[in-house]
Amino acid sequence: MTAIQEQIAPQIYDLWLRPLRPGEKRDDGKLEILTKNDFSAEYVGTNYGIMLESAYQNISGEAVKLAFRTDPNAIPLAPPPRPEPKAPALPVQASPEETGLLERYTFDSFVVGECNAFAHAAAAKVADAPARFYNPLYIHGGVGLGKTHLLHAVAHKILDKFPDKKVRLISSETFMTLFVDSIQKSTANQFKEQFRSVDILLVDDIQFFSGKTGTQVEFFHTFNALYGANKQIILTSDSLPSEIEFLEERLRSRFAQGLVVDIYLPDLETRVAILKKKALLEGIDLQDDVAFFLADAIHTNVRELEGALIRLFALASMSKEPITMALVKESLRNILRGPDHRQVSIDEIQRTVSAYYKITPQDLRSKKRTRLFSHPRQVAMYLCKQLTDSSYPDIGKAFGGRDHTTVIYAVSRITEKQNVNKNLSRELKSLTEMLSN
Ligand code: ADP
Ligand code: MG
Repeated sequence: MTAIQEQIAPQIYDLWLRPLRPGEKRDDGKLEILTKNDFSAEYVGTNYGIMLESAYQNISGEAVKLAFRTDPNAIPLAPPPRPEPKAPALPVQASPEETGLLERYTFDSFVVGECNAFAHAAAAKVADAPARFYNPLYIHGGVGLGKTHLLHAVAHKILDKFPDKKVRLISSETFMTLFVDSIQKSTANQFKEQFRSVDILLVDDIQFFSGKTGTQVEFFHTFNALYGANKQIILTSDSLPSEIEFLEERLRSRFAQGLVVDIYLPDLETRVAILKKKALLEGIDLQDDVAFFLADAIHTNVRELEGALIRLFALASMSKEPITMALVKESLRNILRGPDHRQVSIDEIQRTVSAYYKITPQDLRSKKRTRLFSHPRQVAMYLCKQLTDSSYPDIGKAFGGRDHTTVIYAVSRITEKQNVNKNLSRELKSLTEMLSN
């Protein structure tokens, strides 16, 4: 559990994972995990099941499937939560922990290109004069494109300009966790108060509210209270308000009533500028040819671009070599896939993926559309694109003669989802490892 604790925010860990208790091994080989109520069983199973299974495997060396069962009498084995720090009397300038701000995400470190110019301008305007222009400001775009960065930048700027304003930045997942926690501890009023008393509320990744009915109701009231008091609200999401599934209509319309702006993938020049900026911030001189090479090789999103740069820096510092084209090619070897890389076949991917999800390869190639089949199918298509040289039409053909647009759609869905969905990124990692052995 300690390994997991390091990966998860403390409030989330305390609420969902700390109370778990190991149960018996069942006849079907699954290990039971006892939770205090059905909601926890459902939530932990869906969101942390695979993480717990792999943690268990790491420790015991034994692969096991977990089954979550409600047992209100289960007494947690883990020690009780650490004492809650006392909330200080409203500080004039809140500390980073209280505002939830990351130091490095500022306007200064944000590179503006065509892809984000509109979002950047709107964010800057809101930061200059909160609650005057667009309320709420809704920033949406794919994974790793700078939404969170921009959100923090707004909060920093507001605090710089108006140190008296009460700014609160929170992810929607933490909002939900605190809300559920407040119900369990009967502190709902304090919960309401802490959000309804802010001047600026910034909520990251609100697509996470999808399907969380109780949290949506609470957020609706928070939203109205703030909006009615002329307080600024800024939201980010991976999709348009109209595209978020299982979201109450009244929230959808609130989200869209201010200004909706999007961020998309930066073009090559902007990617180069971002790399140069990051290098500069690290005090490293990045040559143009190297920057262009990297920016050209990685065009999925900025987060991955940044990851490649960090790997490059690490390699340079470990090998004590200067950053040259040879070194950058070396650091990208896994991504660029050299000639010595073993090729897997589509057939092999289909067999491995179907076995992993416990369906048949025929199901994978079939037209069945339920999630049980469509998710593995999209994953398999994605892996075919990543691990083989097959074209989109070739892959489509190998999946029951589907159109190439279906494959393109599947690949982009999985590409986008893997960074926000930890379970998915873990599934992809295990599958890639299985396929490269
Ligand atoms: P998102 O929230 O959209 O998934 P993030 O804001 O977390 O993406 O951005 C991912 C990484 O890429 C962060 O480290 C961020 O600093 C960086 N990044 C994204 N866009 C830019 C940009 N325009 N300028 C500088 N860094 C950026
Ligand atoms: Mg984000």
